[in-house]
Amino acid sequence: PSPLPTLIRKKRDGERLEDAEIRSFVRGVTEGTAQQGQIGAMLMAIRLRGMDAGETLSLTRAMAASGRVLAWPPAWHGLVVDKHSTGGVGDKVSLALAPALAACGCKVPMISGRGLGHTGGTLDKLEAIPGFRVSQSPEEMCSILERVGCCIVGQSEVLVPADRVLYGLRDVTATVDSVPLITASILSKKAAEQLSALVLDVKFGDAALYPTQESARELAQSLVEVGTQLGIRTVAVLSRMDQPLGRAVGNALEVLEALECLDGGGPPDLRQLVTVLGGVLLWQCGKAAGAEQGQELLGRALDDGSALSTFEAMLGAQGVPPDTAHRLCSGTPAQRRQLLGNAKVCEELPALQEGWVQGVRALPLAQVLHGLGAGRSRAGDPVDPLVGAELLVGAGQHLRAG
Ligand code: URA
Repeated sequence: PSPLPTLIRKKRDGERLEDAEIRSFVRGVTEGTAQQGQIGAMLMAIRLRGMDAGETLSLTRAMAASGRVLAWPPAWHGLVVDKHSTGGVGDKVSLALAPALAACGCKVPMISGRGLGHTGGTLDKLEAIPGFRVSQSPEEMCSILERVGCCIVGQSEVLVPADRVLYGLRDVTATVDSVPLITASILSKKAAEQLSALVLDVKFGDAALYPTQESARELAQSLVEVGTQLGIRTVAVLSRMDQPLGRAVGNALEVLEALECLDGGGPPDLRQLVTVLGGVLLWQCGKAAGAEQGQELLGRALDDGSALSTFEAMLGAQGVPPDTAHRLCSGTPAQRRQLLGNAKVCEELPALQEGWVQGVRALPLAQVLHGLGAGRSRAGDPVDPLVGAELLVGAGQHLRAG
């Protein structure tokens, strides 16, 4: 294939890249021979010029093959499932859903991401738990799945390393909102997981990557098309993202809310999304006769404590001291909070005047929290797990001044 500047020029000028050219670009990213500026330029060219379905499939396959592709025992055939979302504010669904699915008999080798743009990341949330290790080798993942049924890990040098580089650079080059880049980023991780079934939560609204339902549908179609071509039973669900999901935003606070959901409680919108997405997967992998029955099964795992004990086992298997994992999962809300720590500064924002809450806008809230340290502006920056907001009111509620 031609040198990288030639490939960048080709895409910049709106031409199609061949499979071998895309593989050569991804090799440069993975092996470190491509310079950061060249990668950024190619990302921007793809963001502005787009890619057709064939190019997107090539990019996805090349990224998946940039590291090791996982392999599972034959006995798990049909049971290996996962969920991925396009990112939102207050979206802690994965934390509750992975253990709930495992409690229903599925195997969930979830490879997640960090915060991207103003949206939060599952890995950042989990790292708010003392000791949690998102980095696990394929052998460790297999052993955790054998014992626990689920694990949540990050991309690494061995797992989809190309996505690790591209994901971090997209965040700082304004190239996050690109259908082929999102498709390849999400599905390369899922292809490396060798999944049987996948459900995608494609969000739309002010605080989503795509503001309108039509644009989110276009992304959903690309994801389902490429996922299906990879041999994964892929379903997409469109969900609104104008208001935060649940009542907590910020890494540590979201862990606490996910624990409430795993306790059979928590905010209704969170529980609904967890059970709807899980219900689809239980149906897709044959554990339920339909999505509604799957939803009931999943709800039962949240109510009977089996999802919570699976979460505790996952924490233990991923480095959290067993005593901490136990106290976090079985403690009172105050004890849980103490384990994760309290923010140094805590401020209440009382209503300035009497009135009705019309909505809670997720985007400005997320931007303020990002600025306070909940998110990162440079790839690799640390985040402060204790930055967050608790919403004490919701849409439709009447407030008095103060
Ligand atoms: N999640 C991902 O893993 N990648 C994206 O590009 C967006 C959401």
